[in-house]
Amino acid sequence: MKFFKLNNGFEMPMAGIGVFTFTPKEAQIAIENALKDGVRLIDTANAYQNEKATGRAIKNSCIDRKEIFLVTKLWPSVYESETAVDDTLKRLDTDYIDLLFLHQPTDNWKSGYRNIEKAVKEGKVRSIGLSNFDVLSNELYVEAINFAEIKPQIVQVEAHPYFPQSELKKILAETSMGLMAWYPLGHGDKSLIEEQIFTDLAKKYGKTNAQIILRWHIQSGNVVIPGSRNPKHIKENFDIFDFELTSEEMAEIAKINKNVRYYNGTPEMIASYKQWAPDFDAQE
Ligand code: NAD
Repeated sequence: MKFFKLNNGFEMPMAGIGVFTFTPKEAQIAIENALKDGVRLIDTANAYQNEKATGRAIKNSCIDRKEIFLVTKLWPSVYESETAVDDTLKRLDTDYIDLLFLHQPTDNWKSGYRNIEKAVKEGKVRSIGLSNFDVLSNELYVEAINFAEIKPQIVQVEAHPYFPQSELKKILAETSMGLMAWYPLGHGDKSLIEEQIFTDLAKKYGKTNAQIILRWHIQSGNVVIPGSRNPKHIKENFDIFDFELTSEEMAEIAKINKNVRYYNGTPEMIASYKQWAPDFDAQE
């Protein structure tokens, strides 16, 4: 396992599992499987409505909480709530969150940011992340950094070989922030996974196409959280640390960049996210 050193000194595993679109039961099973395979990075969110199940999987594993790097995200409907972090901790059944994101850049993000900063001061949150600000503009990250009393550590954005986030990466390098890639496998898009270059490299290294893509992320400096309910894939997605792509191969992969996202959020869509609230009470 490789670790990414955050700009506040904490280290996070570079490969984990994400549970977007998983029912609570699916999330619990997938996380329990992942933890058995050695995965120690878990990515959930208020909006995924599976935080309680995530907490249960961690408890059931009997793994020391300190060994697990737990990531979740506040949803805009709770940015202005002073109890948002405490409520999240309660659902996760833990006393701290390793990394807490603002999930979406709705216009009330500054309230959410101050609430997270307060939680950092109280020892309830260790690191701060900003997700999807790039959908509006990369410069919004600079605005957030200038607004912050406690600087953010990392962004979580769509990134994969078709959309490597080359422009954003320049800003991140200047501000010592990391990149956590969502849709690291293009949300399972076969046209990406089955690109000839990945098939060729998979053959060369005795790996699968998905492993080649995930390895490309790691060597690009990206933290990855591929989603899978399939135990074989969960194990495979973590088994990417025993080979290395050459610089020529990394350059070949760079050629398939289309600079195209799968998710094309508009400012109106982002603004509307504040109107929807996760159903926390119904959560199993
Ligand atoms: P992904 O790119 O990880 O693709 C997952 C899909 O790829 C799976 O459903 C499966 O069909 C396929 N797959 C997984 N492993 C495979 C393997 N080894 N071989 C072949 N196919 C494989 O997309 P995702 O799961 O939607 O996203 C990953 C995580 O990113 C989410 O679970 C979530 O944690 C995070 N995310 C965050 C945001 C955000 O707004 N911050 C948005 C989307 C996703």
